Parts: sequence; C-alpha cells; structure tokens
Amino acid sequence: MKINKAEIFELAVPGEPKTWHPVVIRIHTDEGVSGVGEAGLAYGCGHSGAAGMLANMAEQFLLGKDPRRIEEIWNILQTQTFWGYSPGPIFYAAISAIDIALWDIKGKLLGQPIHQLLGGPCHDSIRAYASQVQFGWGAGEEQKYHQPEDLARTTRAMIEDGYDCVKINPVRYDKDGNFLPHLGPDIPGSTLDVMAERVRAVREAGGRDLDILVEHNSRCSVEAASRLAQRLEEFDCLYLEEPVHFMDPSLTRDLKERTRIPLAGGERFYTRWQFLPYLRERLISLAQPDVCLAGGITETKKICDLAHIFGIQVQMHVCGGPVCVAASLHVAAAAVNYVFQEHFVRLLRPGNRSLVLEDYQPVKGYFALPDKPGLGIELNDDVVNRSPKKVIS
Ligand code: MG
Repeated sequence: MKINKAEIFELAVPGEPKTWHPVVIRIHTDEGVSGVGEAGLAYGCGHSGAAGMLANMAEQFLLGKDPRRIEEIWNILQTQTFWGYSPGPIFYAAISAIDIALWDIKGKLLGQPIHQLLGGPCHDSIRAYASQVQFGWGAGEEQKYHQPEDLARTTRAMIEDGYDCVKINPVRYDKDGNFLPHLGPDIPGSTLDVMAERVRAVREAGGRDLDILVEHNSRCSVEAASRLAQRLEEFDCLYLEEPVHFMDPSLTRDLKERTRIPLAGGERFYTRWQFLPYLRERLISLAQPDVCLAGGITETKKICDLAHIFGIQVQMHVCGGPVCVAASLHVAAAAVNYVFQEHFVRLLRPGNRSLVLEDYQPVKGYFALPDKPGLGIELNDDVVNRSPKKVIS
C-alpha cells in the first residue's frame, strides 16, 4: 500500500470571520482508503503557512510511502526536514495533520476506532467544558461580553446545556470592552476589580459546584497575574490557564510560588521535548496539548503518558474545526490521566459543522466515545471543495 495523493484545503468557513481558516489534509492511497487530519492554525495568523508546509512535506516525504508506518513517517518528518529540531507552530501543525490522517487510514484499514489502537478507552464518555464565556454560547453570532450580567447569563446557558465546567477569560477586554493585549505590573487596582467581578459573576451564576477555568492567553506579566490571582482565590477556580509568557519557564515558576490556584498550559507547546521542562518541575498541574499542533495523535498520546509519570492531568486543547475535535476525542479516550476536553463555542455554529458529514457534539456536557473506524468522520465534499485546495500527486 502506498500514498498516491494528498489534498490540502485552506477552508473558508461559511458565516465565520475571515480570520478563521481550518487547514485540512486528506491523504489518499493506491488501495482507495483515505484519511483526514487538521493543522491547528485555524485561528491567529499562519494558516497559509501550514497549507504550504503540508504541500512541501507531502511532495517530498509522503508520496510512495506506506501509510501504515506512522511512527517511521513521524520521525522522518522530524529528523530529515532540518526544521523539526526546533519547536514551531507551522512545522508541527503540518506534522500533526499528516499524523492524524495516517491514523485515520489505519483505523479504517483495521475496522477500529483509533482509540482502540492506542490501548483502548479508559473512559466510558468524554467530559467536555464550555469555552469561553465572554464569547457567548449557542449557534448564533459570536459575542464580546465584558459586563458581569452578560457573563452570568451565558454561564447559565452553558449549565442549561448540561455543562458543569466553563472557561472564562476575564482579562481579554478592559472595562469598556476594548481588547487588552497585555497586562503589565502597573495594572490599576480598579482594572483588577473589574476582572475579579467578571469571575464572581460566573461563580454566582453557576453556584458552588461549577468548575471554572480562568484563561489569560499569556497576556499577563508575573506581577499582574500574581495580583489578579490573589483576587481570584476567593472564587475557588480549578485552573489558571496560560497566565504568563510561556517561552521562559522561570516566569511560571515565579508565579506558581505566588498563587494557590493550580496552573495550566501547553496549547502552544510542540512535542514531548517542549512539555518536559514544565512537567518534570510540575510547573503546571494540567497539561493542555493541542492534537493538531503538538505533533498529532502519535505525539499527543506520548505527552499524556509523560505527564502521567509526573502526576499531571491532561486536557485536549481544541480550537479548530470538527477534524480537530474528532482527533482529540480519540486521544482523550485512551489517556488515563485525561480530565476533560474543551468545546469551543465556534464549534456549535453551522459553518464549522458543515465541514464534515456528521460531527461530534457533546450531549449534556459529555461526548459519546467514537465507535466508527478511524476518526469516524468524513469531509463534506460539497462544502470543502468550495475553498482553495492544493493537490499533490
Ligand atoms: Mg487557552
């Protein structure tokens, strides 16, 4: 069996902003079986880079290869491309997409869902949390909520949908709703008050038993994160996610000594090697690899197992399209130390759901275990073929 073609889609999603572009590869074989994978750069900047890297990798390294030799192909991509020895989103998003597509092929060939090939499920269903409160909840338009009453109402909507865990980013907007790129050490006390009141609104709307993650997107200085964390301790939050800049572990080490809230991070880490310094010092209590960035299913399962050695739990970071959701579910199912999977509001909207024939959605806050061969999803050709596509053959 040989790989004989790759299609690379830069998806323009109906109804979504121009900044949202899931990048998907579909790998074909000479025996008619195909598999799909996603590069985790749907948001931010760089989707065309990922599509270009996928085309380069497919042309130079995939055509003619046996798709069943996943581990060998992963290592070839890391060691024979020159750039694989340093972490980077475009490079590892591309490896991730290829790896996921190869697992999809393998699962289809063997007639098994991927999680069965990773050791089998450790969980009967996959708990999800609703992410993120400030963007609203439901299939309607994305919101930019910064007022406590809007955040409280959204929290109640998430709970009515069956979720018992939510995530809020209280530092995304200033008191007037303007985007805040960075919080320095000189952040005014009144701004901290505004942010604390947002988390209070979520806690009071959700009650004592709601699990709350607080997102910072690495926007805070250690001093600002520390001062805010002290204010948030009364709300008994589950984790503080990406509070500070993660390229220097000493910042997280410093913050960890200044707060009792457990820290979470990892959505912008690539491979075991980048997770290791954070795991062996237990700088984070929750590792959050993104299957479509960290190195695919192969690497993310290894990251989960590495975290397990250090007594650290894992959550799949999911901020991509429905292919990303599917790949994440299989790793989550097979990871003994998994706690929950992110479900982002954008995944509820019809444009993203239309990219595949049938997508995975939680019911009452839980995903059912995937039970079809491979990832268990197929691209909706009527929709994806409307977007720019590269074909390598
Ligand atoms: Mg995050």
